[in-house]
Amino acid sequence: MTTEGPPVSSAPGKSDLRFLIIGAGMSGILSAIKLQEAGLDNFAIYEKADRLGGTWRENTYPGIACDVPSHFYSYSFAPNPEWSHRFAPGSEIHAYFEEVARRYGVASRIQYGNEVTHCAFEDGRWKIELADGTTDQGDFVIAATGVLHHPAYPEIEGLDSFGGAVFHTARWDHEAPLAGKRIGIVGTGSSAIQIVSAIVDDVAELTLFQRTAQWITPIDNGEYLEEEKAEFRRRPEAMAEIREEVARAFTDGFANVLVDAKSPMIQAIHAHCLANLENSVKDPELREKLRPSYQAACKRLIMSENFYDAIQRPNAMLVTEEIERIEKSGVRTRDGVLHELDILVLATGFRVESFVRPMQVTGRGGKRLDDVWKDGPFAYLAISVPDFPNFFMLNGPNGPVGNFSLIEVAELQLAYILQLVDLVRAGEWKEVCASQEAADRFDAERREAAKSTIWATGCKSWYLDEDGLPTAWPFTFDRFREEMSEPRIADLDRI
Ligand code: NAP
Repeated sequence: MTTEGPPVSSAPGKSDLRFLIIGAGMSGILSAIKLQEAGLDNFAIYEKADRLGGTWRENTYPGIACDVPSHFYSYSFAPNPEWSHRFAPGSEIHAYFEEVARRYGVASRIQYGNEVTHCAFEDGRWKIELADGTTDQGDFVIAATGVLHHPAYPEIEGLDSFGGAVFHTARWDHEAPLAGKRIGIVGTGSSAIQIVSAIVDDVAELTLFQRTAQWITPIDNGEYLEEEKAEFRRRPEAMAEIREEVARAFTDGFANVLVDAKSPMIQAIHAHCLANLENSVKDPELREKLRPSYQAACKRLIMSENFYDAIQRPNAMLVTEEIERIEKSGVRTRDGVLHELDILVLATGFRVESFVRPMQVTGRGGKRLDDVWKDGPFAYLAISVPDFPNFFMLNGPNGPVGNFSLIEVAELQLAYILQLVDLVRAGEWKEVCASQEAADRFDAERREAAKSTIWATGCKSWYLDEDGLPTAWPFTFDRFREEMSEPRIADLDRI
């Protein structure tokens, strides 16, 4: 069986362009809504899971929330007066995406439970194969497959021998009761920190295995009062104002300054985190264990209202001794101590080099994306790869990541992509992607710029490639906005 679009045309007219959207998370839903709005209604959305929502579907651990303020972490065209908190919990964010997808009429168009396994450019069109053997074809592919998607499991001896429940934060086992149990958590990234704060008061003992200490920025996650929500309902401009204010603060006070490790603002962020540590942790020994040895914001900054309180609870223990192995009854550290546990949580992050993979993507002349990316994934302006025409990624490699709204990033990227589509739609071109020359130039420039970013100042993080070079957008966010505002036509390879 095939679910093909309109007949193959070597020169698709304005109305018959077909789009294949892969993934129904935040970016996939956005793509469908915006294509529809642009009158490009001939699209399919494929989602391998049985629900939409991407990261917010997958991550259901206790305490999950977005550490970007909710009125900023919302689609610009769909403000939400009902956010309960400044930083809304994950379940609310998931419900928001489901509601918006329904409201804009795209939820019913998602084809669930079917993974796109192959994607090949043949005879001027993209042909895809799905796990159930069906196929489809279209003029454009929008890969909205997410970044932090494939859990990274640690290679610790004996992991399989643990006698209790053991699971990754993105695969939370809700059948495993926490109350009154001894819980161990490996890792101290954003996920672990949220979990510690959320569960410490419910569990008998909480042991946090820290390999590297983290800088923590304090936040105030107040609830929105009923009268504030009523005001948002009555006056949506109030939400737009907050959004604008937060966006500006994030851009000027954070995103723009990360690219210069020596900037005074970075020093101020460091001082703020340091004061938080000094003022919040009473026991000098614990304070030293929690003190990172690198600059704040080198790793992704962790925002937390109450982690330091949580880790100082009498039933919480911070273990900095290296893990030697995992045994049936717990975690054995190098000092010989066995930390007995009932449940072991792996808060060990994600394999971030996958992007659209494991999907097999083949471009012009049979070129395989796996080969092109053999030394690591890259994309011109985070969107396009030479010889993969009409194949565009949202939140692809080398894009802005960090403590700001990936929704804003995706919206800017999609606006850029739609400008490329318009050129095809107008009949000027049939195929468009970055030229090799432009992609090489961009890559060389971004590699050079990466060296002076905060991420390159001597810590280990998921922002770095195998050679230790930061892979994220190393320029200011203002530059990203500008690049996305209008394609540089000379950089494009088009037919
Ligand atoms: P992460 O930041 O990559 O942290 C993984 C943690 O596991 C690190 O502390 C790491 O230690 C530790 N680890 C990994 N392998 C280990 C091993 N073999 N032995 C001991 N420790 C090990 O992962 P994450 O916390 O899931 O966060 C990933 C990203 O998701 C975040 O950076 C953020 O972008 C996103 N996120 C966002 C939010 C939000 O509120 N918006 C919330 C959660 C996550 P080292 O530091 O020593 O490597």
